[in-house]
Amino acid sequence: MASHSDSAEDRRNDVMERHREAADAVVPERTSLYIGGEFTEPAGGETFATIDPTTTQELASVARGREADVNRAVEAAWEAFETEWSEHSPGDRQRILTEIADVIEANADELARLETLDNGKPITEARIDVDSAAEQFRYFAGIVRENGGETMTEGSRYGQVISEPYGVVAQVIPWNFPLLMASWKLAPALAAGNCTVLKPAEQTPLSALRLAGLLDEVVPDGVVNVVTGFGEEAGDPLTRHPDVRKVAFTGSTAVGKQVMTNAAENVTDVTLELGGKSPVVVFSDVDVPKAVQLITAAIFYNTGECCEAGSRLFVHEDVADDVLDGLVNAIDEMEIGDPLREATDLGPKVSTEQVDRTLEYLEAAQDAGGRFLAGGDRPDDEVLSEGCYVEPTLIEGLEHDHAAVQEEIFGPVLEVFRWTDYETMMELANDVDYGLAGGVITDDVTQANRAARDIEAGYIWINSYHDLAPGLPFGGYKQSGIGRELSADTLDHYRQTKTINLSLG
Ligand code: NAD
Repeated sequence: MASHSDSAEDRRNDVMERHREAADAVVPERTSLYIGGEFTEPAGGETFATIDPTTTQELASVARGREADVNRAVEAAWEAFETEWSEHSPGDRQRILTEIADVIEANADELARLETLDNGKPITEARIDVDSAAEQFRYFAGIVRENGGETMTEGSRYGQVISEPYGVVAQVIPWNFPLLMASWKLAPALAAGNCTVLKPAEQTPLSALRLAGLLDEVVPDGVVNVVTGFGEEAGDPLTRHPDVRKVAFTGSTAVGKQVMTNAAENVTDVTLELGGKSPVVVFSDVDVPKAVQLITAAIFYNTGECCEAGSRLFVHEDVADDVLDGLVNAIDEMEIGDPLREATDLGPKVSTEQVDRTLEYLEAAQDAGGRFLAGGDRPDDEVLSEGCYVEPTLIEGLEHDHAAVQEEIFGPVLEVFRWTDYETMMELANDVDYGLAGGVITDDVTQANRAARDIEAGYIWINSYHDLAPGLPFGGYKQSGIGRELSADTLDHYRQTKTINLSLG
């Protein structure tokens, strides 16, 4: 094993070797489509490569699903629904969901390493994803029996209001939390009694395929189907399929709009969890080191590739210099490097395309007079030269209407604005098309509550960030989405209401 005194080449080779060994141990053998309980080749026989963003080497060759494969998967899902799954009681589904949680936990180490290889996220964060994925299934297992329904009697009229599953649902997910997003989708859909066709992101298909392999022993054939492939080739036909009764999508707002249009062709119900450009508001009374810690986590967790990332900082003038100095120091101390190492705080971005996209925003910000207090480029470290790395970056001095401020960069980039007047600051904080989340840092309860109510967003943290708990609904205002995940409400997004009006006369 190379040490810090070794040459850059030795250390780079060390990273390569560590990733090769991990890939040999955890990349799943079966990377074809998973349809009707079987791993099966795509009709066209095509594949595509998924890349390890730390080394930019190919990790695996994965089935490239297209419309014919989507059709096969939707058919298999309906067959499973009609012949078996719709007969399962809530109690059966509760048992199966619990078994899924157990099987995820039993394979947690393998799943975490696989996620780190395919996505580039630090292994410590990948472990949190895996635990949270299991937790999703446990949460919905816990509430699946609460399937009440209502009745109404009025003269000779006896009314019943019941909820029924849609049957077959389509679920399309992004690359930033591949396993976690799969669990956010699968757990409520199955709990509500549906069968599903899941389309993972083309950048990170491996954990969904491994999960399919694990579910094979637990879930009846055809209840969960996984079609890997590209958005236009597999996601598009899936979300416009006439036999799909519900579309659930997580991804960018641009693609979300397209998915909504697709679903409109068949008047299919849609939930959308989309992008964000969330404000973090810091008041003058804060404890600076604590605020710095929260702000750092808000933007740099998962390399900034979080829909809810706190990417616009509004810091009160009275503490701005101290907070910014603290942030520059915190960035200096961050370990950027191999995400398989326990000490790493910031890994690579998911792909070279995402690096280029982030650097384009940084260039535009510089051209517009943005001052880089930290970062602004790829790291100047030969060992990282093969990987998809971008420095953690702090920018001050941009106009709030600049594209880098208005649009989701989805990288480790924080834009800073100082404020003195609350109303003016809040106007800017809300002056974006997004409304997914927000953060407020202050020990003044009244200020905290006022700001939490004034920020136009679906989820506000006061003196914390990224802390999500099953039972507390998550979802966006404005162009950040429609619907809520993580809560009992989510079950209703996967069910339809039926009224039965019986005449007793
Ligand atoms: P993306 O929109 O490019 O892709 C998401 C998924 O949609 C992928 O599986 C992709 O293959 C598929 N897709 C692409 N084109 C399609 C089409 N025409 N029809 C159907 N499917 C299509 O997003 P991404 O780059 O993978 O992920 C990042 C985005 O996801 C960010 O905007 C982020 O904010 C968002 N996100 C939101 C949440 C949330 O809960 N709100 C959570 C995670 C990520």
